[in-house]
Amino acid sequence: MQKQQSKVDNEYFAARCRENGLRITPQRMAIYRMLAGSRDHPSADAVFRRIREEFPSISYDTVNRTLLTFARIGLAEIVDGPGGPRRFDLRTEDHHHFHCRKCGRIVDFQSADYDRLQIPSEIRDRFTVLDKKVVLSGLCDRCIS
Ligand SMILES: [Zn+2]
Ligand SMILES: [Zn+2]
Repeated sequence: MQKQQSKVDNEYFAARCRENGLRITPQRMAIYRMLAGSRDHPSADAVFRRIREEFPSISYDTVNRTLLTFARIGLAEIVDGPGGPRRFDLRTEDHHHFHCRKCGRIVDFQSADYDRLQIPSEIRDRFTVLDKKVVLSGLCDRCIS
């Protein structure tokens, strides 16, 4: 089993749903829990394949729509990768991403230096920044050899 770092916060989940008029269904909870337990930034298809084991009648469309809704209400985050399907992440404390251009792996990393990066004034003066993430890309250790 893959190392799991549980970030499930049922109260936060329930509060976000309530604020946005979203009913708390077992499917939505399961999708949230699945995302919280996944360290690999799964695509909607990957979440669908995992969730189907628990809810055999759920459709891909429902899973995809739920993930997009989670992103809209701040429960999840869409990770922009170089090509390939859209990937999802749980919105968590500051972390940054390394993308492998060959295998598509997205690895989380922490950096106090990156956390301290200043927002350029052309952005800061015009927009409200809610999140800040540095994305590095290249070849991962598995692909470099
Ligand atoms: Zn790789
Ligand atoms: Zn991440």
